[in-house]
Amino acid sequence: MDDSQTEAGWRSDPIWQLYAAYGRAYVAYAGLGVVSTVLGRFFGLVPAFVIGLAVDAIFLRERPFGLPFVPAAWLPTSPVDQLTLAITVLVVATVGGSVASWLEDWGWSVFAQRIQHALRVDAYDRLQRFDLAYFTSRRTGDLMSVLNNDVNALETFLEDGLSAIIWIGATVVGIGAILLTLNVPLTLVALLPIPALVAFTLLFTRVIEPKYLAIRGEIGDLNSRLENNVSGIEVIKTEGAEAYERDRVESTSRSYLTANLTTIRTQTTYYPGLTVISGVGFAVTFLVGGLWILTGAPFGLSATLSPGEFVTFVIYAQQFVWPVLRFGTVVDDYERAKAAAVRVADVMARESRISAAPDATDLDGRTGAVEFDHVSFGYDTDRGRRVITDVSLDVAGGETIGVVGPTGAGKSTLLKLVPRLYDADEGAVRIDGRDVRDVTLTSLRRAVGYVSQEPFLFFGTIRENIRYGTFDATDEDVERAAKRAQAHAFVQNLPDGYETRVGERGVKLSGGQRQRIALARTILKDPAILVLDEATASVDTETEALIQRSIAEFARDRTTFVIAHRLSTVRNADRIVVVDDGRITERGTHTELLARDGLYANFWRVQAGDVDALPPEFLERAMARGAERHDRG
Ligand code: ATP
Repeated sequence: MDDSQTEAGWRSDPIWQLYAAYGRAYVAYAGLGVVSTVLGRFFGLVPAFVIGLAVDAIFLRERPFGLPFVPAAWLPTSPVDQLTLAITVLVVATVGGSVASWLEDWGWSVFAQRIQHALRVDAYDRLQRFDLAYFTSRRTGDLMSVLNNDVNALETFLEDGLSAIIWIGATVVGIGAILLTLNVPLTLVALLPIPALVAFTLLFTRVIEPKYLAIRGEIGDLNSRLENNVSGIEVIKTEGAEAYERDRVESTSRSYLTANLTTIRTQTTYYPGLTVISGVGFAVTFLVGGLWILTGAPFGLSATLSPGEFVTFVIYAQQFVWPVLRFGTVVDDYERAKAAAVRVADVMARESRISAAPDATDLDGRTGAVEFDHVSFGYDTDRGRRVITDVSLDVAGGETIGVVGPTGAGKSTLLKLVPRLYDADEGAVRIDGRDVRDVTLTSLRRAVGYVSQEPFLFFGTIRENIRYGTFDATDEDVERAAKRAQAHAFVQNLPDGYETRVGERGVKLSGGQRQRIALARTILKDPAILVLDEATASVDTETEALIQRSIAEFARDRTTFVIAHRLSTVRNADRIVVVDDGRITERGTHTELLARDGLYANFWRVQAGDVDALPPEFLERAMARGAERHDRG
């Protein structure tokens, strides 16, 4: 893609900007398309000319037999030979026309398909680099429809529309030139409908444009609904919500249907409108030409018109309708493609809000010290509510920090700021003294390993899933990591061991098994900073004990954050911080926090089953928090 493609450019003229940016590499195919389209048109114009010539020169003998660019001496003189030559010319023109049409289709199709491919890959690549907030604020189905339907719509116009424009140009110029040589006044009569056709087309585009844009939006909505329902099929079944979902799909599909029907109502008037205007024009031309033959030149004109010329003229004048009609479909396709281009260009023009500074350098992350310096943050989608408020925390390299707190307190959010899944609104997060915004994203993400509570497995083998991100790891490395994550034993019991396919349409793993695969993936990555976000919450206590032992050993030589609700998971951490409502309210070792007798100590009582010992304020606060969460929801 060209650097000169400015954001303003993408937005003001998306379709041509996209084609210019991506077409350049494949311009040879377009060149072939243009040449063969023009040649094809040339061959297509020959028959009418030859028929007119045959009528005048061979049958009526009104003018001598002559062909353009051919010396008269080379031409036969007997009528039979002349007829044979005329028919040969017709056959050659037909064969030439077929070859040209084949080359034309091939050139334009390859041109369009290659652009479609390059554009889709580029659009996907840009999209995947956008900040996480972009994805959480958009529906998956809608994004899919940009990458699929909209990119395809652009290809359709390229393949059919662009070739049609050349075809129309060649036809109009070719026929126009021949008509002018035949009879100038009659040509002007034949051209009369053109201003009316242009005005009608302008009106059409103005009316249809917003309708096509609305359809693209409706496709996005429908895709989102279907995608959401297929993903949530388990809930639909357990809740017996099939009828409800059928109605919702029917309602979304109906909106799409309505948008389509409204558009079709406008669209279907266009083509017949063009036909009527050009048909009337043709009738007028026929009338004037016919009278010319019967009663001589009208309006005191002196030009002559032979019957053969009139036949040729009428055939061409009728062919003049074709480009007009084809122009109609081109305009229609163009309007569709333009609506799609607006959405694709929106992806191409957008910049990720999370990107490294231009002078960013790699982070070596050797020490792994992490500093939160008066950090505050709120999600855009959450009406500016602060989720993290003025958090400061200094973590030395190699330290293990337990992070606990009520649900929704902001624990995950705080740690997502370290690998820059989101950026702090105020304050700074530093690693080894360097602001995370000043280092390259690749080196930052390499230095930080993040295991989430609900890990995602890609469709593929277990081995591929563990190796994901450390693509050059050997099979031995993969198995070693799996052993440390307590995954090796259960993987070996799967039908195909490490080659077992998991993820979509593969073997379904339990939540705890998936967590262990994700843990193995991060262990293999060997990051300087490890974030375990409830990473063992779904495994049984026995397995957790085993994982704890491995993690403790793995954590020894790296900085580790362990977010956990189960306090036994963090009690041996070097330090524990309690996050409550976006702030760190307590910090210290397990023993220190118990002695402090605050929130942590009460959590500990809950987990020890000592509920009777809880102070009434704790229960009141817990209920208040629940109510607050309910309000937000
Ligand atoms: P839990 O223990 O339940 O995992 P947590 O302490 O990790 O909770 P967070 O997941 O950080 O809490 O969420 C903190 C707040 O931010 C919650 O109110 C949540 O609703 C909100 N939140 C989390 N993720 C997003 C998001 N992507 N967009 C908007 N709000 C979010």
